[in-house]
Amino acid sequence: MIWKLNLFGSTQAGADLTAYQTHLADHCNLNCKGCGHFCNLVKEPIFADLEQYSKDVTRLSELYWNVSLLQLLGGEPLLNSQLEEFIKVSRKAFPAAELNVYSNGLLVTRQPESLFETMRENRCAFRFSAYKPIYKKRDELTEFLGKRGIIWSFTGHTIPIETFSRSVLLNPEPVDATEIWSKCRDTICHVLEPGYLYPCGGGPWNKYLEEHFDVKINHGDPEKLRINLETTTLTGHEINALLDGPHEACKYCGTLKMKPFDWETRTREKAMLSDYAIDAE
Ligand code: SF4
Ligand code: SF4
Repeated sequence: MIWKLNLFGSTQAGADLTAYQTHLADHCNLNCKGCGHFCNLVKEPIFADLEQYSKDVTRLSELYWNVSLLQLLGGEPLLNSQLEEFIKVSRKAFPAAELNVYSNGLLVTRQPESLFETMRENRCAFRFSAYKPIYKKRDELTEFLGKRGIIWSFTGHTIPIETFSRSVLLNPEPVDATEIWSKCRDTICHVLEPGYLYPCGGGPWNKYLEEHFDVKINHGDPEKLRINLETTTLTGHEINALLDGPHEACKYCGTLKMKPFDWETRTREKAMLSDYAIDAE
């Protein structure tokens, strides 16, 4: 068993966090219709703060021996000029993590050589969402990244990605959280947002949809949903017990009622509530 010194100078069994994803930019250069993180609704560039991220990751490394899958994403992470620093900080905190940058890939050939060097040195790979614009360039990507020794792959529920789904419920009837959670495919997609760890994406980015359409999405009491990394007195194992089980947002989640539509792009100006909400029509 591995033991580790925690914040308060005592030792505890080293818990593992299955995964976290964190936004390095809330906005995006592709702007998919109905983006699940509402990135095509973000009005102006919003970047993650490196100092806050360093603080959060340091705190996480006191709570956890490792994060099995560490996902730097967005929005589009390649828009963040400090991406290399985020990679270095992540790797330093979690030497054994699978560390990936999730991107739409459109900006990859315009990146400085130093990014690829940093990725090689820090065992960081690219995962490209297989939307049509980048899937068409797969041979170019293979050659470009192959020359630079970068590991990469496509990701998506299909390759290429042909459809998206609406999953927001504006007027949900509370349901049995245990039942819906047991059928959910996103239960390990924990989210690190400044100062907080959320069980999944149900909650942290709602503000963009709510502000743009002047609606309220009910995900229950945020304080029951998320872990305050600064004030929590829980151990990593105790936090895992909360994250890896049914939670407040599941009661109001539309994940089992998702309605698919053909993937396409749609800017903020043309976005409609029905791009996201199942019950908006
Ligand atoms: S590529 Fe599309 S789905 Fe991904 S963050 Fe950008 S807008 Fe959202
Ligand atoms: S809120 Fe929805 S997506 Fe998140 S874990 Fe619960 S059922 Fe899954």
